[in-house]
Amino acid sequence: MRRSRAERPVAHDPLAPALEARDLSVSYGGRVALRDVTFALEAGRRLAVVGPNGAGKSTLLRVAAGLLSAASGTLLVHGHAPREHVCVAYVPQRSDVDWRFPLCVADVVLMGRTGRLGPLRRPGRADRQLARAAMERVGLDSLAARQIGELSGGEQQKMFIARALAQEAEIVLLDEPLAGLDVPATTDVLALLGTLERATLVVALHDLAVAAASFDLVLLVRQRMIRFGRPADAFEPDALEEAYGSSVPMARTADGRLVVPDDDCVKEDR
Ligand code: ADP
Repeated sequence: MRRSRAERPVAHDPLAPALEARDLSVSYGGRVALRDVTFALEAGRRLAVVGPNGAGKSTLLRVAAGLLSAASGTLLVHGHAPREHVCVAYVPQRSDVDWRFPLCVADVVLMGRTGRLGPLRRPGRADRQLARAAMERVGLDSLAARQIGELSGGEQQKMFIARALAQEAEIVLLDEPLAGLDVPATTDVLALLGTLERATLVVALHDLAVAAASFDLVLLVRQRMIRFGRPADAFEPDALEEAYGSSVPMARTADGRLVVPDDDCVKEDR
């Protein structure tokens, strides 16, 4: 009999990074979307994947989630191919979700348990408790019965973070979680991500200032890897120009800190 996914979780290589790409290239129907990506991300680090529209940010996350295969090179999760890792939570862009689906918040958060239970086992009391605790942690317990389309954008992101918590995910991949959020919701979601201390975060972002202020590491891409490193290094002016052309205004303060002007404010890297 074929064993369910939950009965054979993928073992982690304890010596391997949480995520490691080696000469990774990814294509859609023969057209290369991303190439020459090489980096290693240790467990617990927070990586922002940054680049212009169409740069390949979502593509990289889909490979890490096991939804898309490499055309060449590899991407490994804890030393193994990405498929079937129950420790990886993937949060797609909000625009990729059908919010009319007849599901409430509690249903979606409980789905976080599916990978660990396997397709044949129904969630039990312990699973429901985990889901409830996750909703409380993100502040959505009072909205547990609400249909998912009736949430604000920020609440929708919090719901997915709660699902990742219920899943007991060790690696959380979020595709543009701040897109379309107002300033208070952005602050809330970033604060919540900040509480996932033990998780490895990989977050596709548009906002360079947020990447510089809130993430340990940046992967700068434009159909290929331009830089991987600390924000101060990844956002060197020549790298940004390679990614965005000369349209990104950058400046260094007198003491050498890099500042990235944002729409609303100026933030400094760490
Ligand atoms: P980003 O997330 O940085 O905006 P994407 O990873 O979505 O970039 O896209 C990278 C490239 O791959 C783009 O040229 C895009 O048009 C192409 N692409 C993305 N998804 C598909 C798909 N499902 N089929 C064909 N091409 C795609």
